[in-house]
Amino acid sequence: MPERLGPPLDMPLFDRVALIGLGLIGSSIARAVKHLNLAGTLVAVDRSEEVVTRVRELAIADEATTDFVAGVRDADLVILCVPVGVCGTVAEAMKPGLKPGSIVSDVGSVKASVIAQVQPHLPDGVHFVPAHPVAGTEHSGPDAGFATLFHNRWCILTPPEGEDEEAVERVRAFWTAMGSNVEIMAAQHHDLVLAITSHVPHLIAYNIVGTAADLETVTQGEVIKFSAGGFRDFTRIAASDPTMWRDIFLHNKEAVLEMLGRLNEDIALLARAIRWGEGDKLFDLFTRTRAIRRGIISSGQETAEPDFGRRKDQA
Ligand code: NAP
Repeated sequence: MPERLGPPLDMPLFDRVALIGLGLIGSSIARAVKHLNLAGTLVAVDRSEEVVTRVRELAIADEATTDFVAGVRDADLVILCVPVGVCGTVAEAMKPGLKPGSIVSDVGSVKASVIAQVQPHLPDGVHFVPAHPVAGTEHSGPDAGFATLFHNRWCILTPPEGEDEEAVERVRAFWTAMGSNVEIMAAQHHDLVLAITSHVPHLIAYNIVGTAADLETVTQGEVIKFSAGGFRDFTRIAASDPTMWRDIFLHNKEAVLEMLGRLNEDIALLARAIRWGEGDKLFDLFTRTRAIRRGIISSGQETAEPDFGRRKDQA
């Protein structure tokens, strides 16, 4: 039983909620919704029969189906929890089942592209409130989720201009109930912010782990043996789902390239400082970055515990 979630609500926030894609994020939402009584009925929709069976075994939804149209029928809130590259296809597939007045949302890590993909498929009278919970782990699938994943984490809503305010507030209330802090911003701005706070750091991790794997002068055995020197922390990030991250880079191309350009310039400056023995420059940077880390800890977004306080099963 999650310790940090509040008690169940007396009255659900929505009569019927459908989640499409019961992976890490979808199954975490399912667990939180069930625990907190946020939906009168919770429907799990997944393309895979195997996942639907697993959802039934775990009892994390009231109904489970592979039929997208039947799954979203009569739902007041539908949340797409699939990789950003397939949001348009999934929206098209579920479209015939959408109820007028319902709210469609998503959890994609990129927002402008998801809006461009999904919006054309939504019938008039269906509201669209895209969301991105800035919370996750490197694990995937319905067994990886946990109800407290969003607790004390930010969830960014990027409603298209002119979207119904009541729909936005209902989605805000949904995430707030799961323990998230909610912020609203424009999709383009979201994509730029996340490029530097999430996407580029993942690219660096994928790159450094890939480089180490390809080295000829240092054996892979040595890389693993001495990984506690820093490399290990990159490998956790670089173990994240390949489909999800391929889609993120392809769908947030401009913002990632913009931030990478900036990063390349800064790395060139660091290389220069090392080459010319400019210790003060290195020391000043490392002092500034240490302060950023302390700021993240004091804002409650990380812990100073050993191993970053990760759950033991995520080590
Ligand atoms: P996940 O555990 O890999 O689950 C992905 C889900 O999408 C699975 O249910 C999968 O179905 C389904 N799916 C994949 N391809 C599909 C397709 N072509 N058609 C229909 N369904 C498809 O991934 P996740 O971590 O939950 O990520 C889901 C979304 O959350 C992504 O958009 C990601 O950007 C966003 N997000 C992730 C994190 C994170 O840290 N993981 C954090 C915030 C937001 P099957 O089970 O049949 O494969």
